[in-house]
Amino acid sequence: MSQTETRFIFITGGVVSSLGKGIAAASIGRLLRSRGLSVQIQKFDPYINVDPGTMSPYQHGEVFVTEDGAETDLDLGHYERFTDANASKGSNVTAGGIYNTVIRRERRGDYLGATVQVVPHITDEIKQRIRVMADRDDADFVITEIGGTVGDIESLPFLEAIRQFPVEVGRRRCMFIHLTLVPYIGHAGELKTKPTQHSVNELRRIGINADMVLCRSESELSLDIRKKIALFASLPVDAVVSGYDVKDVYSVPLVFHDQGVDDFILKEHFGIDAPPPDLAGWKAIIDRAAALKDEVRIALVGKYVQLEDAYLSVVEALRHSGIHHGCRVKVEWIDSETVGEPEVDELLRGVDGILIPGGFGGRGFEGKIAAAKIAREEKIPYLGVCLGMHVAVSEFARHVADMPGANSTEMDPETPFPVIDLLPEQREIADMGGTMRLGADPVKLHPGTRAYEAYGESVVYERHRHRYEVNNHLKKQLETAGLVFGGTTPDDRLVEITELPREVHPYYVASQFHPEFKSRPDRPSPLFREFVGAAHERHGGEPVAAPSVDGADVTASRLNV
Ligand code: GLN
Repeated sequence: MSQTETRFIFITGGVVSSLGKGIAAASIGRLLRSRGLSVQIQKFDPYINVDPGTMSPYQHGEVFVTEDGAETDLDLGHYERFTDANASKGSNVTAGGIYNTVIRRERRGDYLGATVQVVPHITDEIKQRIRVMADRDDADFVITEIGGTVGDIESLPFLEAIRQFPVEVGRRRCMFIHLTLVPYIGHAGELKTKPTQHSVNELRRIGINADMVLCRSESELSLDIRKKIALFASLPVDAVVSGYDVKDVYSVPLVFHDQGVDDFILKEHFGIDAPPPDLAGWKAIIDRAAALKDEVRIALVGKYVQLEDAYLSVVEALRHSGIHHGCRVKVEWIDSETVGEPEVDELLRGVDGILIPGGFGGRGFEGKIAAAKIAREEKIPYLGVCLGMHVAVSEFARHVADMPGANSTEMDPETPFPVIDLLPEQREIADMGGTMRLGADPVKLHPGTRAYEAYGESVVYERHRHRYEVNNHLKKQLETAGLVFGGTTPDDRLVEITELPREVHPYYVASQFHPEFKSRPDRPSPLFREFVGAAHERHGGEPVAAPSVDGADVTASRLNV
Protein backbone atom coordinates (compact mmCIF):
# COMPACT_ATOMS: atom_id res chain seq x y z
CA MET A 1 0.00 0.00 0.00
CA SER A 2 1.21 3.49 -0.63
CA GLN A 3 1.53 6.06 2.10
CA THR A 4 -1.49 8.08 0.96
CA GLU A 5 -3.63 5.07 1.72
CA THR A 6 -2.63 4.73 5.37
CA ARG A 7 -5.68 3.84 7.46
CA PHE A 8 -6.15 5.22 10.96
CA ILE A 9 -7.61 3.34 13.90
CA PHE A 10 -8.40 5.27 17.07
CA ILE A 11 -8.88 3.43 20.33
CA THR A 12 -10.75 5.20 23.11
CA GLY A 13 -11.80 3.95 26.51
CA GLY A 14 -14.93 4.42 28.57
CA VAL A 15 -16.56 3.63 31.93
CA VAL A 16 -13.38 3.09 33.97
CA SER A 17 -9.63 3.22 33.44
CA SER A 18 -7.25 0.25 33.49
CA LEU A 19 -9.35 -1.89 31.15
CA GLY A 20 -6.31 -2.70 29.04
CA LYS A 21 -6.55 -0.34 26.07
CA GLY A 22 -2.84 -0.87 25.53
CA ILE A 23 -3.25 -4.63 25.25
CA ALA A 24 -6.26 -4.13 22.95
CA ALA A 25 -4.28 -1.79 20.67
CA ALA A 26 -1.29 -4.14 20.71
CA SER A 27 -3.49 -7.16 19.94
CA ILE A 28 -5.14 -5.47 16.98
CA GLY A 29 -1.66 -4.46 15.82
CA ARG A 30 -0.52 -8.08 16.11
CA LEU A 31 -3.49 -9.29 14.04
CA LEU A 32 -2.93 -6.74 11.28
CA ARG A 33 0.79 -7.58 11.20
CA SER A 34 -0.08 -11.27 10.95
CA ARG A 35 -2.05 -10.41 7.84
CA GLY A 36 0.98 -8.92 6.16
CA LEU A 37 0.25 -5.26 6.89
CA SER A 38 2.63 -2.74 8.40
CA VAL A 39 1.47 -1.09 11.59
CA GLN A 40 2.60 1.82 13.72
CA ILE A 41 1.06 2.20 17.18
CA GLN A 42 0.97 5.42 19.11
CA LYS A 43 -0.29 6.47 22.53
CA PHE A 44 -1.64 9.86 23.56
CA ASP A 45 -1.39 10.61 27.27
CA PRO A 46 -3.45 13.54 28.53
CA TYR A 47 -1.20 14.59 31.42
CA ILE A 48 0.97 17.72 31.47
CA ASN A 49 4.36 16.04 32.00
CA VAL A 50 6.33 16.36 28.76
CA ASP A 51 7.13 12.67 29.08
CA PRO A 52 6.82 10.11 31.89
CA GLY A 53 10.60 10.17 32.48
CA THR A 54 10.34 12.35 35.57
CA MET A 55 7.35 10.53 37.07
CA SER A 56 7.71 8.16 39.99
CA PRO A 57 7.32 4.49 39.06
CA TYR A 58 4.69 4.37 41.82
CA GLN A 59 2.62 6.82 39.79
CA HIS A 60 3.13 5.49 36.37
CA GLY A 61 4.75 2.07 36.39
CA GLU A 62 7.92 1.53 34.41
CA VAL A 63 9.31 4.05 31.97
CA PHE A 64 9.76 2.21 28.69
CA VAL A 65 12.75 3.37 26.64
CA THR A 66 12.65 3.25 22.83
CA GLU A 67 15.56 2.62 20.44
CA ASP A 68 15.77 6.34 19.70
CA GLY A 69 15.87 7.23 23.39
CA ALA A 70 12.35 8.37 24.21
CA GLU A 71 11.16 7.78 27.79
CA THR A 72 7.63 6.54 27.30
CA ASP A 73 4.53 4.94 28.73
CA LEU A 74 4.69 1.24 29.52
CA ASP A 75 2.00 0.50 26.96
CA LEU A 76 4.69 0.97 24.31
CA GLY A 77 6.32 -2.12 25.75
CA HIS A 78 3.14 -4.03 24.99
CA TYR A 79 3.12 -2.62 21.47
CA GLU A 80 6.69 -3.74 20.84
CA ARG A 81 6.25 -7.17 22.37
CA PHE A 82 3.01 -7.84 20.52
CA THR A 83 3.90 -6.41 17.12
CA ASP A 84 7.69 -6.80 17.19
CA ALA A 85 7.94 -3.36 15.56
CA ASN A 86 10.03 -0.74 17.30
CA ALA A 87 8.29 2.29 18.73
CA SER A 88 9.96 5.68 18.57
CA LYS A 89 9.83 9.24 19.85
CA GLY A 90 6.58 9.88 17.98
CA SER A 91 4.90 6.85 19.51
CA ASN A 92 4.11 8.52 22.83
CA VAL A 93 2.65 12.00 22.88
CA THR A 94 1.58 13.80 26.05
CA ALA A 95 -0.53 16.93 26.48
CA GLY A 96 2.58 18.51 28.03
CA GLY A 97 4.62 17.67 24.93
CA ILE A 98 1.97 19.20 22.67
CA TYR A 99 1.69 22.38 24.74
CA ASN A 100 5.47 22.62 24.96
CA THR A 101 5.73 22.64 21.15
CA VAL A 102 2.91 25.11 20.67
CA ILE A 103 4.16 27.48 23.37
CA ARG A 104 7.72 27.43 22.01
CA ARG A 105 6.30 28.29 18.59
CA GLU A 106 4.25 31.10 20.08
CA ARG A 107 7.34 32.53 21.81
CA ARG A 108 9.19 32.51 18.49
CA GLY A 109 6.37 34.55 17.00
CA ASP A 110 5.43 31.83 14.51
CA TYR A 111 1.71 32.48 14.94
CA LEU A 112 2.10 36.04 13.59
CA GLY A 113 0.02 37.74 16.23
CA ALA A 114 -2.85 35.25 16.31
CA THR A 115 -4.55 34.33 19.57
CA VAL A 116 -3.23 30.82 20.27
CA GLN A 117 -6.08 28.50 21.26
CA VAL A 118 -6.85 24.88 22.06
CA VAL A 119 -8.85 24.74 18.82
CA PRO A 120 -7.22 24.98 16.31
CA HIS A 121 -3.61 25.26 17.52
CA ILE A 122 -3.45 22.44 20.05
CA THR A 123 -5.71 20.17 18.02
CA ASP A 124 -3.71 20.90 14.84
CA GLU A 125 -0.51 19.88 16.59
CA ILE A 126 -2.16 16.66 17.81
CA LYS A 127 -3.31 15.82 14.27
CA GLN A 128 0.19 16.53 12.99
CA ARG A 129 1.57 13.93 15.45
CA ILE A 130 -0.82 11.35 13.96
CA ARG A 131 0.27 12.16 10.41
CA VAL A 132 3.95 11.82 11.34
CA MET A 133 3.29 8.20 12.27
CA ALA A 134 1.76 7.49 8.87
CA ASP A 135 4.99 8.58 7.20
CA ARG A 136 7.05 6.14 9.23
CA ASP A 137 7.89 3.21 6.98
CA ASP A 138 4.85 4.04 4.87
CA ALA A 139 2.64 2.41 7.49
CA ASP A 140 -0.48 0.67 6.19
CA PHE A 141 -2.11 1.32 9.55
CA VAL A 142 -1.61 3.79 12.35
CA ILE A 143 -3.28 2.74 15.59
CA THR A 144 -3.66 5.59 18.06
CA GLU A 145 -4.63 4.85 21.64
CA ILE A 146 -6.11 7.78 23.54
CA GLY A 147 -5.14 7.54 27.21
CA GLY A 148 -7.72 8.28 29.90
CA THR A 149 -11.44 7.75 29.77
CA VAL A 150 -14.09 9.50 27.70
CA GLY A 151 -15.60 12.19 29.91
CA ASP A 152 -12.26 13.22 31.46
CA ILE A 153 -11.69 16.96 31.14
CA GLU A 154 -8.08 16.53 30.14
CA SER A 155 -8.74 14.08 27.28
CA LEU A 156 -10.97 16.54 25.45
CA PRO A 157 -8.41 18.18 23.12
CA PHE A 158 -7.26 14.73 21.98
CA LEU A 159 -10.82 13.55 21.36
CA GLU A 160 -11.61 16.76 19.51
CA ALA A 161 -8.52 16.25 17.33
CA ILE A 162 -9.50 12.70 16.39
CA ARG A 163 -13.05 13.89 15.74
CA GLN A 164 -11.63 16.39 13.23
CA PHE A 165 -9.13 14.00 11.71
CA PRO A 166 -11.53 12.15 9.35
CA VAL A 167 -12.63 15.49 7.92
CA GLU A 168 -9.11 15.86 6.56
CA VAL A 169 -8.23 12.35 5.43
CA GLY A 170 -11.70 10.96 4.70
CA ARG A 171 -14.01 9.04 7.01
CA ARG A 172 -13.48 5.83 5.04
CA ARG A 173 -9.82 5.85 6.06
CA CYS A 174 -10.61 6.07 9.78
CA MET A 175 -12.08 3.72 12.34
CA PHE A 176 -13.08 4.36 15.94
CA ILE A 177 -12.89 1.50 18.40
CA HIS A 178 -14.26 2.03 21.89
CA LEU A 179 -13.28 -0.14 24.85
CA THR A 180 -15.79 -0.38 27.67
CA LEU A 181 -16.68 -2.47 30.67
CA VAL A 182 -19.65 -4.81 31.03
CA PRO A 183 -19.71 -5.44 34.78
CA TYR A 184 -21.21 -8.48 36.44
CA ILE A 185 -23.46 -7.50 39.32
CA GLY A 186 -23.28 -10.43 41.68
CA HIS A 187 -26.48 -10.01 43.72
CA ALA A 188 -28.53 -9.53 40.54
CA GLY A 189 -26.64 -12.35 38.84
CA GLU A 190 -26.46 -10.24 35.69
CA LEU A 191 -24.07 -8.60 33.28
CA LYS A 192 -24.96 -4.93 32.90
CA THR A 193 -24.78 -3.17 29.53
CA LYS A 194 -25.91 0.26 30.74
CA PRO A 195 -22.42 1.69 31.40
CA THR A 196 -21.44 0.73 27.84
CA GLN A 197 -24.55 2.40 26.41
CA HIS A 198 -23.80 5.58 28.34
CA SER A 199 -20.19 5.57 27.32
CA VAL A 200 -20.97 5.11 23.61
CA ASN A 201 -23.45 8.00 23.93
CA GLU A 202 -20.88 10.17 25.68
CA LEU A 203 -18.56 9.61 22.75
CA ARG A 204 -21.35 10.50 20.31
CA ARG A 205 -22.01 13.71 22.18
CA ILE A 206 -18.52 14.88 21.26
CA GLY A 207 -19.05 13.89 17.66
CA ILE A 208 -17.43 10.45 17.49
CA ASN A 209 -19.41 7.40 16.43
CA ALA A 210 -17.81 4.14 17.48
CA ASP A 211 -17.39 1.66 14.63
CA MET A 212 -16.60 -1.19 16.99
CA VAL A 213 -17.11 -1.72 20.70
CA LEU A 214 -14.76 -3.98 22.64
CA CYS A 215 -16.46 -5.02 25.85
CA ARG A 216 -14.33 -6.08 28.78
CA SER A 217 -16.01 -8.57 31.06
CA GLU A 218 -15.15 -11.42 33.37
CA SER A 219 -16.64 -14.09 31.17
CA GLU A 220 -17.59 -14.29 27.52
CA LEU A 221 -20.64 -12.24 26.54
CA SER A 222 -23.62 -14.12 25.15
CA LEU A 223 -24.94 -13.34 21.68
CA ASP A 224 -28.01 -11.77 23.29
CA ILE A 225 -25.95 -9.28 25.24
CA ARG A 226 -23.87 -8.45 22.19
CA LYS A 227 -27.07 -7.92 20.19
CA LYS A 228 -28.41 -5.59 22.85
CA ILE A 229 -25.24 -3.50 22.85
CA ALA A 230 -25.22 -3.53 19.03
CA LEU A 231 -28.76 -2.18 18.94
CA PHE A 232 -28.02 0.73 21.27
CA ALA A 233 -24.72 1.51 19.60
CA SER A 234 -26.24 1.33 16.07
CA LEU A 235 -23.73 -1.31 15.07
CA PRO A 236 -23.88 -4.74 13.45
CA VAL A 237 -23.48 -7.46 16.05
CA ASP A 238 -20.10 -8.46 14.56
CA ALA A 239 -18.80 -5.07 15.66
CA VAL A 240 -19.50 -5.86 19.31
CA VAL A 241 -16.61 -7.93 20.60
CA SER A 242 -16.33 -9.78 23.87
CA GLY A 243 -13.00 -9.06 25.52
CA TYR A 244 -13.29 -11.49 28.37
CA ASP A 245 -10.62 -12.14 31.02
CA VAL A 246 -7.91 -14.53 29.95
CA LYS A 247 -5.04 -16.11 31.85
CA ASP A 248 -2.38 -15.07 29.38
CA VAL A 249 -2.59 -11.65 27.78
CA TYR A 250 -0.66 -12.95 24.79
CA SER A 251 -3.79 -14.91 23.91
CA VAL A 252 -5.88 -11.74 23.43
CA PRO A 253 -5.08 -11.49 19.69
CA LEU A 254 -6.40 -15.05 19.32
CA VAL A 255 -9.56 -14.22 21.29
CA PHE A 256 -10.12 -11.27 18.96
CA HIS A 257 -9.36 -13.27 15.86
CA ASP A 258 -11.81 -16.00 16.86
CA GLN A 259 -14.52 -13.34 16.94
CA GLY A 260 -13.60 -12.05 13.51
CA VAL A 261 -12.09 -8.76 14.67
CA ASP A 262 -9.41 -8.61 11.96
CA ASP A 263 -11.90 -9.56 9.24
CA PHE A 264 -14.35 -6.95 10.43
CA ILE A 265 -11.69 -4.23 10.50
CA LEU A 266 -10.18 -5.11 7.14
CA LYS A 267 -13.06 -6.38 5.03
CA GLU A 268 -16.20 -4.92 6.53
CA HIS A 269 -14.87 -1.58 7.61
CA PHE A 270 -12.05 -0.67 5.26
CA GLY A 271 -12.85 -2.97 2.33
CA ILE A 272 -9.30 -4.33 2.24
CA ASP A 273 -8.47 -7.82 0.99
CA ALA A 274 -5.56 -9.20 2.97
CA PRO A 275 -4.13 -12.70 3.18
CA PRO A 276 -5.35 -14.85 6.09
CA PRO A 277 -3.37 -14.36 9.29
CA ASP A 278 -0.37 -16.47 10.09
CA LEU A 279 -0.76 -16.95 13.83
CA ALA A 280 0.89 -20.37 14.12
CA GLY A 281 4.08 -19.09 15.74
CA TRP A 282 2.14 -16.93 18.16
CA LYS A 283 -0.11 -19.79 19.13
CA ALA A 284 2.86 -22.11 19.60
CA ILE A 285 4.32 -19.77 22.20
CA ILE A 286 1.02 -19.50 24.07
CA ASP A 287 0.60 -23.28 24.07
CA ARG A 288 4.13 -23.69 25.29
CA ALA A 289 3.58 -21.10 28.02
CA ALA A 290 0.43 -22.92 29.16
CA ALA A 291 2.24 -26.24 29.40
CA LEU A 292 5.26 -25.19 31.49
CA LYS A 293 6.02 -27.73 34.19
CA ASP A 294 9.03 -26.75 36.29
CA GLU A 295 9.02 -23.58 38.29
CA VAL A 296 12.03 -21.45 39.10
CA ARG A 297 11.95 -18.80 41.79
CA ILE A 298 13.61 -15.51 41.05
CA ALA A 299 13.94 -12.87 43.75
CA LEU A 300 13.46 -9.40 42.34
CA VAL A 301 15.04 -7.03 44.83
CA GLY A 302 13.91 -3.46 44.29
CA LYS A 303 12.37 -0.48 45.92
CA TYR A 304 9.16 -0.18 43.91
CA VAL A 305 8.01 -3.76 44.48
CA GLN A 306 4.58 -2.70 45.78
CA LEU A 307 3.68 -1.86 42.20
CA GLU A 308 4.57 -4.74 39.90
CA ASP A 309 4.07 -2.54 36.83
CA ALA A 310 7.20 -0.67 37.88
CA TYR A 311 9.17 -3.64 36.56
CA LEU A 312 6.86 -4.75 33.76
CA SER A 313 9.43 -5.35 31.02
CA VAL A 314 11.78 -7.12 33.45
CA VAL A 315 9.01 -9.52 34.44
CA GLU A 316 8.09 -10.08 30.79
CA ALA A 317 11.72 -10.78 29.88
CA LEU A 318 11.88 -13.36 32.69
CA ARG A 319 8.70 -14.91 31.40
CA HIS A 320 9.99 -15.06 27.82
CA SER A 321 13.13 -16.75 29.12
CA GLY A 322 11.06 -19.23 31.11
CA ILE A 323 9.04 -20.13 28.03
CA HIS A 324 12.34 -20.70 26.22
CA HIS A 325 13.66 -23.04 28.91
CA GLY A 326 10.35 -24.73 29.59
CA CYS A 327 9.89 -23.38 33.11
CA ARG A 328 7.49 -21.03 34.78
CA VAL A 329 9.19 -18.11 36.50
CA LYS A 330 7.80 -17.25 39.90
CA VAL A 331 8.91 -13.80 40.98
CA GLU A 332 9.54 -13.29 44.69
CA TRP A 333 9.11 -9.55 45.24
CA ILE A 334 11.64 -8.37 47.80
CA ASP A 335 11.60 -4.83 49.12
CA SER A 336 15.30 -3.93 49.21
CA GLU A 337 14.86 -2.15 52.54
CA THR A 338 13.96 -5.48 54.16
CA VAL A 339 17.14 -7.33 53.13
CA GLY A 340 19.11 -8.08 56.29
CA GLU A 341 16.03 -9.28 58.17
CA PRO A 342 16.72 -12.96 58.92
CA GLU A 343 13.64 -14.36 57.14
CA VAL A 344 14.29 -12.26 54.03
CA ASP A 345 17.93 -13.39 53.87
CA GLU A 346 16.82 -16.96 54.30
CA LEU A 347 14.36 -16.57 51.46
CA LEU A 348 17.12 -15.10 49.28
CA ARG A 349 19.41 -18.05 50.04
CA GLY A 350 16.69 -20.41 48.88
CA VAL A 351 15.80 -18.88 45.50
CA ASP A 352 17.11 -20.02 42.13
CA GLY A 353 18.17 -16.56 40.99
CA ILE A 354 18.49 -12.99 42.24
CA LEU A 355 17.75 -10.03 40.00
CA ILE A 356 18.40 -6.40 40.83
CA PRO A 357 16.69 -4.10 38.36
CA GLY A 358 17.20 -0.43 37.53
CA GLY A 359 16.51 2.28 40.05
CA PHE A 360 17.38 5.71 41.32
CA GLY A 361 18.50 7.15 44.65
CA GLY A 362 19.94 5.76 47.84
CA ARG A 363 16.92 4.30 49.60
CA GLY A 364 17.32 0.54 49.80
CA PHE A 365 20.74 0.57 48.14
CA GLU A 366 22.50 -1.12 51.05
CA GLY A 367 19.88 -3.86 51.01
CA LYS A 368 20.63 -4.44 47.35
CA ILE A 369 24.35 -4.66 48.15
CA ALA A 370 23.56 -7.28 50.78
CA ALA A 371 21.44 -9.24 48.29
CA ALA A 372 24.22 -9.14 45.68
CA LYS A 373 26.68 -10.39 48.31
CA ILE A 374 24.43 -13.34 49.08
CA ALA A 375 24.16 -14.11 45.36
CA ARG A 376 27.94 -13.94 44.88
CA GLU A 377 28.89 -15.92 47.97
CA GLU A 378 26.19 -18.57 47.69
CA LYS A 379 26.73 -18.90 43.93
CA ILE A 380 23.12 -18.06 43.18
CA PRO A 381 22.66 -16.86 39.58
CA TYR A 382 22.61 -13.06 39.53
CA LEU A 383 21.45 -10.57 36.96
CA GLY A 384 21.95 -6.86 37.54
CA VAL A 385 20.32 -4.26 35.34
CA CYS A 386 21.71 -0.71 35.29
CA LEU A 387 21.54 0.19 39.00
CA GLY A 388 21.85 -3.59 39.53
CA MET A 389 25.28 -3.33 37.87
CA HIS A 390 26.26 -0.43 40.11
CA VAL A 391 25.27 -2.63 43.06
CA ALA A 392 27.32 -5.58 41.80
CA VAL A 393 30.41 -3.44 41.21
CA SER A 394 30.17 -1.66 44.57
CA GLU A 395 29.67 -4.94 46.41
CA PHE A 396 32.61 -6.58 44.64
CA ALA A 397 34.81 -3.55 45.30
CA ARG A 398 34.02 -3.54 49.02
CA HIS A 399 34.22 -7.24 49.74
CA VAL A 400 36.63 -8.65 47.18
CA ALA A 401 38.78 -5.83 45.78
CA ASP A 402 39.68 -4.41 49.17
CA MET A 403 38.03 -1.02 48.72
CA PRO A 404 36.11 -0.49 51.96
CA GLY A 405 33.25 1.95 51.67
CA ALA A 406 33.26 1.71 47.84
CA ASN A 407 30.08 3.17 46.42
CA SER A 408 28.39 5.00 43.61
CA THR A 409 28.65 8.76 44.01
CA GLU A 410 24.89 8.82 43.41
CA MET A 411 24.55 7.27 46.89
CA ASP A 412 27.62 8.66 48.63
CA PRO A 413 29.40 11.62 47.03
CA GLU A 414 32.17 11.37 49.67
CA THR A 415 32.99 7.68 49.20
CA PRO A 416 36.74 6.90 49.34
CA PHE A 417 36.31 4.56 46.36
CA PRO A 418 33.87 6.05 43.83
CA VAL A 419 33.69 2.90 41.69
CA ILE A 420 30.57 4.31 40.02
CA ASP A 421 30.62 7.97 39.08
CA LEU A 422 28.74 10.49 36.93
CA LEU A 423 29.26 10.27 33.20
CA PRO A 424 31.52 13.23 32.29
CA GLU A 425 28.86 14.63 29.94
CA GLN A 426 26.33 14.63 32.79
CA ARG A 427 28.26 16.97 35.11
CA GLU A 428 26.92 20.27 33.86
CA ILE A 429 23.31 19.19 33.25
CA ALA A 430 20.70 20.70 35.56
CA ASP A 431 17.41 19.68 33.86
CA MET A 432 15.98 16.35 34.98
CA GLY A 433 13.75 15.48 32.00
CA GLY A 434 15.22 13.69 28.99
CA THR A 435 18.83 14.40 29.95
CA MET A 436 20.18 10.96 30.80
CA ARG A 437 22.15 8.78 28.41
CA LEU A 438 19.13 7.39 26.60
CA GLY A 439 18.36 4.87 23.91
CA ALA A 440 20.19 2.25 21.89
CA ASP A 441 23.96 2.39 21.61
CA PRO A 442 26.40 -0.20 20.30
CA VAL A 443 27.95 -2.52 22.86
CA LYS A 444 31.19 -4.34 22.01
CA LEU A 445 31.27 -7.79 23.54
CA HIS A 446 34.61 -9.26 24.48
CA PRO A 447 35.34 -12.80 23.22
CA GLY A 448 35.57 -15.46 25.90
CA THR A 449 33.09 -13.75 28.23
CA ARG A 450 29.64 -14.89 29.40
CA ALA A 451 28.16 -11.90 27.61
CA TYR A 452 29.76 -12.80 24.28
CA GLU A 453 28.63 -16.39 24.71
CA ALA A 454 25.04 -15.28 25.46
CA TYR A 455 24.71 -13.00 22.45
CA GLY A 456 26.88 -14.97 20.03
CA GLU A 457 27.81 -11.69 18.38
CA SER A 458 30.57 -9.15 18.82
CA VAL A 459 28.46 -5.98 18.59
CA VAL A 460 24.88 -5.58 19.80
CA TYR A 461 22.59 -2.59 20.28
CA GLU A 462 20.97 -2.19 23.66
CA ARG A 463 18.95 0.58 25.28
CA HIS A 464 20.25 2.82 28.05
CA ARG A 465 18.83 5.12 30.68
CA HIS A 466 21.41 6.28 33.19
CA ARG A 467 23.68 9.04 34.44
CA TYR A 468 26.34 7.05 36.30
CA GLU A 469 28.91 4.57 35.03
CA VAL A 470 31.91 2.50 36.11
CA ASN A 471 34.78 4.80 37.05
CA ASN A 472 37.63 4.10 34.63
CA HIS A 473 40.23 5.19 37.20
CA LEU A 474 39.33 2.22 39.42
CA LYS A 475 38.75 -0.28 36.62
CA LYS A 476 42.23 -1.81 36.77
CA GLN A 477 41.95 -2.45 40.50
CA LEU A 478 38.60 -4.20 40.05
CA GLU A 479 39.95 -6.25 37.15
CA THR A 480 42.99 -7.36 39.13
CA ALA A 481 40.65 -8.59 41.87
CA GLY A 482 38.82 -10.76 39.33
CA LEU A 483 35.94 -8.69 37.93
CA VAL A 484 35.53 -9.22 34.19
CA PHE A 485 34.37 -6.49 31.83
CA GLY A 486 32.36 -8.47 29.33
CA GLY A 487 31.30 -5.50 27.23
CA THR A 488 32.22 -1.89 26.64
CA THR A 489 31.32 0.85 24.22
CA PRO A 490 33.18 0.25 20.93
CA ASP A 491 35.73 2.95 21.91
CA ASP A 492 36.27 1.21 25.28
CA ARG A 493 35.30 4.43 27.05
CA LEU A 494 32.32 3.10 29.03
CA VAL A 495 31.84 -0.25 30.73
CA GLU A 496 28.64 -1.94 29.53
CA ILE A 497 28.81 -5.39 31.17
CA THR A 498 30.49 -6.73 34.30
CA GLU A 499 30.63 -10.41 35.16
CA LEU A 500 32.41 -13.14 37.07
CA PRO A 501 34.07 -16.00 35.19
CA ARG A 502 32.26 -19.32 34.94
CA GLU A 503 34.95 -21.04 37.05
CA VAL A 504 34.07 -18.75 39.95
CA HIS A 505 30.29 -18.43 39.67
CA PRO A 506 27.54 -20.17 37.66
CA TYR A 507 26.14 -16.83 36.41
CA TYR A 508 26.97 -13.42 37.74
CA VAL A 509 26.33 -10.87 35.01
CA ALA A 510 25.25 -7.24 35.12
CA SER A 511 24.67 -4.71 32.39
CA GLN A 512 24.72 -0.93 32.28
CA PHE A 513 21.93 -1.08 29.70
CA HIS A 514 18.39 -2.41 30.03
CA PRO A 515 18.19 -5.67 28.08
CA GLU A 516 14.55 -6.19 29.13
CA PHE A 517 13.24 -3.64 26.64
CA LYS A 518 14.25 -5.73 23.64
CA SER A 519 13.01 -9.05 24.94
CA ARG A 520 10.27 -10.66 22.85
CA PRO A 521 8.15 -13.73 23.62
CA ASP A 522 9.89 -15.72 20.92
CA ARG A 523 13.30 -14.06 21.35
CA PRO A 524 14.12 -13.62 25.01
CA SER A 525 16.87 -11.16 25.77
CA PRO A 526 20.13 -13.20 25.75
CA LEU A 527 21.26 -12.00 29.21
CA PHE A 528 17.87 -12.86 30.72
CA ARG A 529 17.72 -16.14 28.83
CA GLU A 530 21.09 -17.30 30.17
CA PHE A 531 20.20 -16.08 33.67
CA VAL A 532 16.96 -18.06 33.77
CA GLY A 533 18.82 -21.03 32.21
CA ALA A 534 21.33 -20.93 35.08
CA ALA A 535 18.49 -20.60 37.61
CA HIS A 536 16.74 -23.57 36.02
CA GLU A 537 19.91 -25.59 36.27
CA ARG A 538 20.35 -24.67 39.93
CA HIS A 539 16.77 -25.79 40.48
CA GLY A 540 17.70 -29.15 38.97
CA GLY A 541 15.66 -28.64 35.82
CA GLU A 542 16.44 -30.54 32.68
CA PRO A 543 17.42 -28.30 29.80
CA VAL A 544 14.54 -28.37 27.33
CA ALA A 545 14.77 -27.97 23.56
CA ALA A 546 14.05 -24.33 22.79
CA PRO A 547 10.91 -23.57 20.81
CA SER A 548 11.36 -23.30 17.09
CA VAL A 549 9.25 -20.35 16.20
CA ASP A 550 9.91 -18.24 13.19
CA GLY A 551 10.41 -14.55 13.81
CA ALA A 552 7.80 -11.88 13.85
CA ASP A 553 4.99 -13.84 15.32
CA VAL A 554 4.68 -13.66 19.10
CA THR A 555 4.18 -11.97 22.78
CA ALA A 556 2.97 -11.51 26.77
CA SER A 557 1.90 -9.32 29.73
CA ARG A 558 -0.18 -8.76 32.79
CA LEU A 559 -3.29 -6.82 31.91
CA ASN A 560 -6.22 -8.81 30.68
CA VAL A 561 -8.52 -7.82 27.90
N1 GLN B 1 20.47 5.71 39.02
C1 GLN B 1 21.43 5.12 38.14
C2 GLN B 1 21.94 6.11 37.12
O1 GLN B 1 21.37 7.15 36.91
C3 GLN B 1 20.86 3.89 37.45
C4 GLN B 1 19.75 4.21 36.52
C5 GLN B 1 18.93 3.00 36.16
O2 GLN B 1 18.99 1.98 36.83
N2 GLN B 1 18.16 3.11 35.11
O3 GLN B 1 22.94 5.86 36.48
